[in-house]
Amino acid sequence: MTQPRRGNRDLIKAMNRNLILNILRGSGPLSRSQLTELSGLSVGAVSQITSALITENWIKEDGEGDYTGGRRQTMLRLNPTAGYIIGIKLMEQRIVSVLTDLETTPLAYLERPLPNAQSSEVVIAGLKGLIEGVLAAAGVARHHVMGVGIGLAGVIDYDRGIVHYSPYFHWRDVPLAELLSHEIYLPVYIENDVNSLTLTEQLFGAGHEVANFVVVTVGRGIGMGMVFNHQRYQGTRGGAGELGHITVEANGLPCDCGKQGCLEAMAADPAVFRYIVDALTHGTPSRVRAPITLQRVVDAAREGDEVARSALARSGRYLGMGLATVINLLSPSLIILSGEGVIAEDYRLGPMMEALEQHTFDGLLENVRIVIKPADEELWARGAAGLVVGKVFESPLLTPLVDGA
Ligand SMILES: [Zn+2]
Repeated sequence: MTQPRRGNRDLIKAMNRNLILNILRGSGPLSRSQLTELSGLSVGAVSQITSALITENWIKEDGEGDYTGGRRQTMLRLNPTAGYIIGIKLMEQRIVSVLTDLETTPLAYLERPLPNAQSSEVVIAGLKGLIEGVLAAAGVARHHVMGVGIGLAGVIDYDRGIVHYSPYFHWRDVPLAELLSHEIYLPVYIENDVNSLTLTEQLFGAGHEVANFVVVTVGRGIGMGMVFNHQRYQGTRGGAGELGHITVEANGLPCDCGKQGCLEAMAADPAVFRYIVDALTHGTPSRVRAPITLQRVVDAAREGDEVARSALARSGRYLGMGLATVINLLSPSLIILSGEGVIAEDYRLGPMMEALEQHTFDGLLENVRIVIKPADEELWARGAAGLVVGKVFESPLLTPLVDGA
């Protein structure tokens, strides 16, 4: 044991400092007296902590607030450029990255194709090259970067930085965070891509200060991230939220997971394409031309194409059934519907809402706000940057001060 009493005092100091930083991140700019009130710390403690944070460049004085008690008060806010973050979305054939400040505001964007050979060595080399490229593009030195966050599809153990299962690369138990960290000399955090988007919604988006909400993404697949009582829920070894693989049609289309009739197989974008190909095969006329993309389907639907409209509607109805299950099980107050598939607008979302009303348990739907938020790749990468922000502002209780040695 190393000086336990000293350790306790340091821990309390670190926790108070973390508290002040988190209040400013969530509710700033604030005056010192507002900070005192919100933190419950003494005036002296707040004054001491804030001047240390100003010296270290973590926070800055930012003009003056309203008159209170006869004089203006200096406002304090988080300094968003106290450090920088790299957020990455790792996809089947492409990697996109953003370099952001601490509020995940993008300062540089870079993307690269990923060759089809998907060994972890090849992917790590690709990630390393991209990270060096985005640092150069932003003109930011490596030592100003607080960490790299990576979002990818699959079952990811965030705490240990391990990819338990990747559907695209067919990896099992790859310690990606550690392997990459050795290559780039920066801390690396990895998480399921939908969970990282959820974290960013919690830190900066519609989920800010919402106790119970879910993020459902629709695109190439269907995913879900969950927050209960202000805590993200990842389940055992990161396996929670496989909304895409609940069964919605007992004898439905085959799914990538090896089963059939999964929500993803019936409602994700490839299902829409499949419905159209089936209709064309049966000789039903349609304006949709190969190669089919969601944008082409939506354009055809807008022009009155019945095949396109009915494919989107069918997918939307299954999606509504899936969301009804989410509401019936979890009763969140907010559902953020995101992903690339959201561009299908009312052709998909109208039938989705109808099915939602039809299948939600009596009264539960009235308490749910549904926010539609299209996600482009930059937003996904910012979501991954949020992983690092979460780590930077994490309570020091979760990171031991002294080694057990
Ligand atoms: Zn499945």
